[in-house]
Amino acid sequence: MRELTCANCGGSIQVENQFIRAVTCRFCGAGYLVRGDDTLDPSGQSARLADYPSRLQVGMRGVIRGRAFTVLGRIRYAYDAGFWEEWQIAWEDGAPPDWLEEDEGYWTLYRRERVKSALPAFEQVRVGSTLPVNNYRVYVTEKRTARVAGSEGQFSSVFPLTGTFGYFQGGADNHTVSVNYWQDEIELSIGDELDHSEIRIG
Ligand SMILES: [Zn+2]
Repeated sequence: MRELTCANCGGSIQVENQFIRAVTCRFCGAGYLVRGDDTLDPSGQSARLADYPSRLQVGMRGVIRGRAFTVLGRIRYAYDAGFWEEWQIAWEDGAPPDWLEEDEGYWTLYRRERVKSALPAFEQVRVGSTLPVNNYRVYVTEKRTARVAGSEGQFSSVFPLTGTFGYFQGGADNHTVSVNYWQDEIELSIGDELDHSEIRIG
């Protein structure tokens, strides 16, 4: 664990593991990118998250399908019809952190996968079409524009604190495939739906 200092408020920021690429100061909400040489580059101010009832909180520990995890961070995404939450979780077995998506009581465990195939521009993606994405044939069911409404904690992804981004989602075999079009990067996530009882807290 590396201990760094928030340039905005002087608070201590402890970077939890080597996968962390972005942090939000827990005292003042300043956002930073974490550089390999242990420096923090300001990335903007993160909006505070108003509390809402969830089974999870940053700092909680739990078990999914026999694997122990700690909750490192939380992002709330907003779109025209509502919002959803993504929880960054670190595995105690040392594997790269994954994401738990919470959407109206449904939970999906997402792992990031490197994009290996050419993807169409966001504008060209059509709901109802089938797109090849890496080894998946994705039937596109959803295409939207969203924004980050707030964040807290630490993250293995770099996401925009301001502005909007496009994403699409679809099904491939028994996975959910989600593609985010960030400004500089396309991020691919492969999801497995979790039954409520497969997440044990504490
Ligand atoms: Zn701070």
